[in-house]
Amino acid sequence: MSHATQVSELGLVETATPWIGPNGAVMERLELHLTYICPERCVFCSEEHRMNTFRPFPVTWGRIATILRTHAARGVTAVHLTGGEPTIHPRFIDVLKLAKKLGMRTSVGTIGTQLQHPNFADKALPYLDEALFSIHGPTAEVHDRMAGRDGSFEQVTKAMKYAVNHRPNFGGFVNTVVTRHNIRDLPETVALASDLGAKLIVISNTTPEGHGEDRYADLAVPLNILAEVLPTVPERAPNSVVRFFGVPMCLLGDYGAHSNDLHWDPRVTVEWQRDPGVVAFTGIYSWAPDRRRVHVDACNGCSRKRVCSGVFDKYAETWDTDALKPAVE
Ligand code: SF4
Repeated sequence: MSHATQVSELGLVETATPWIGPNGAVMERLELHLTYICPERCVFCSEEHRMNTFRPFPVTWGRIATILRTHAARGVTAVHLTGGEPTIHPRFIDVLKLAKKLGMRTSVGTIGTQLQHPNFADKALPYLDEALFSIHGPTAEVHDRMAGRDGSFEQVTKAMKYAVNHRPNFGGFVNTVVTRHNIRDLPETVALASDLGAKLIVISNTTPEGHGEDRYADLAVPLNILAEVLPTVPERAPNSVVRFFGVPMCLLGDYGAHSNDLHWDPRVTVEWQRDPGVVAFTGIYSWAPDRRRVHVDACNGCSRKRVCSGVFDKYAETWDTDALKPAVE
């Protein structure tokens, strides 16, 4: 069962009491979609449909400021800026400044579009604590094929190097999405991320949303290949924290504790949503990392079922899940 609930934007500004989740957790993390535009054409883009739908609706500065102030008043202490490509929002630096003024930790998910430019990075980095750079291969050949644009690899690696070298204690993180077409390159991708100074490396399974859903039959990595490759990668980044997102815990071998299911924070995602007859900038409340994930028959006897969210629903509908290895301890 999903624990997501929705609250209208008008509802957000009526009161300043903290949001408390079903298990008593306080909502402290805001994910804010700043744009519905991206210069890349990632083959697996989970946002593709939302970008097509909401591109005509710009996210104005007034709306952003209201969301940040309201959430800070209700106990949110960290904001992650996302999109589309969030750094191309015309008020991106002002968003960072206001978030810091409100006492928030700031992070951005980016493919380096603007942070590759030293002039822009010099203005942003004093107000930016972390960036999750999208690097989907160890070479330009592999990454650019995944990102759908020549030059993307050079851009994102340049942006990450600059940020890590110019902001003391910067949280330089890497997100890499695995598909059938780059999974064999993953050990080298992780080694590259480590060499670039990534403190955290998130290995994300292809999510069946947007292009990821349209092309799932071509992109999804068979479970037996995930089980073969994923346990080999943490040793390629001994100085980084490695997390696996959207992966059944039993495919991680000795690295089950690296599953993001165990290290996931409740979050409110604020973005355009379409209700019948109306488009509203709306908060989606997520209290568990179970989006599009299901348990299958094999999970019923598994001792990890309570903490593992299982396999993507579309995978279970399309292929067998015989490679799952229920835990018996
Ligand atoms: S058998 Fe199911 S619940 Fe158990 S670890 Fe695997 S996917 Fe998760």
